[in-house]
Amino acid sequence: MKKALITGIFGQDGSYLCEILAKKGYELHGIIKNNLSENSQGIKDYLERLGINPKLYFVDLNDFKRLQELIIMICPDEIYHLAAFHVSAQDVNNSKCIKGKQLYDYNVKSTSNLLYICHEYLRAPKFVTAGSCLMFDDCDAIIQSEITPFKSCSLYGIAKISENMLVEFYRRKGLHASTAILFNHESSRRSNNFVTKKIVKALVAITNGGNQALVLGNLNAKKDWGWAKDYAYGMFLMSQIDKPKDYVLASGSHHTVCDFIEIVAAKLNINNWQKHVKLNDNLITRASQANLLGDWSLAKCELNWKHSISLGQLADLMVENELSGELA
Ligand code: NDP
Repeated sequence: MKKALITGIFGQDGSYLCEILAKKGYELHGIIKNNLSENSQGIKDYLERLGINPKLYFVDLNDFKRLQELIIMICPDEIYHLAAFHVSAQDVNNSKCIKGKQLYDYNVKSTSNLLYICHEYLRAPKFVTAGSCLMFDDCDAIIQSEITPFKSCSLYGIAKISENMLVEFYRRKGLHASTAILFNHESSRRSNNFVTKKIVKALVAITNGGNQALVLGNLNAKKDWGWAKDYAYGMFLMSQIDKPKDYVLASGSHHTVCDFIEIVAAKLNINNWQKHVKLNDNLITRASQANLLGDWSLAKCELNWKHSISLGQLADLMVENELSGELA
């Protein structure tokens, strides 16, 4: 039986990965924080209802000694590093630089610790970490692929670039390590402050008689959106190949925030969604304005990775879940 260790196991991606690996018979281990957010607690409870109960450890990813002891004890075949502090546009504009600095320090140190431990103390683990399209948020390229030079104007993006350099360093030393360069991927398991979830929640509440405002930054912002479970499967595929490599996982299509509202509103028969929208410039950041569009042809060709649902089907799923209180 293979053993997988997942950091951020009760996040959106970690939980889908858990489902995928549980079906394949993996023994699952997860590192979590003491104080799970409401979103992660909800996902944990949902997995429990599905009968998925990974072994859990409360270990700080910046505590090298405890992390080292734990990983040597588990001796995983595959490690998926998905825990990261990340910030919504709201956080970026409200919290000045200190939150960004803490995010950078914590995220880079966690990845550095994990890579070092994998390289020094495990036999031949496979290590996959989550990169981000925001590694390109200050690039001029119209479409971004694995060969587009990284350039970022956000500390989150710069941290992901630094982590990717560490991955490359250890890969050169022989570790099976890779970065999944993830473009936006959504589901009902997204936290409430991300735009797709915000839209679905607000429009379903309006259908149920509520009159709340849908507060958004820029309706014309273009996004490259896919379904989170497909991206989790992509990361699994990346750890199965012989020669580790970084891959872009993206949809390759642009849709505006307004397009997504239209899709969801049409499903819910809301004709006058405009009257519920309030624009707030505070939610617009330079990074969130970047024109990010991923070229995922390498993953398609070498991993045989593909999308299982369209954006319309994703919106359907999110609406159905919001109505029923499920997290499928
Ligand atoms: P989530 O926020 O849904 O999941 C992250 C999980 O990590 C949460 O359960 C969170 O717990 C946990 N976590 C955060 N910090 C720590 C820590 N110090 N120790 C242990 N657990 C921690 O994010 P996603 O699943 O959507 O994203 C997974 C990865 O992919 C992240 O690295 C993210 O940066 C990256 N990514 C995601 C994209 C997307 O569109 N979703 C796009 C690009 C990159 P809690 O909720 O309790 O804080």
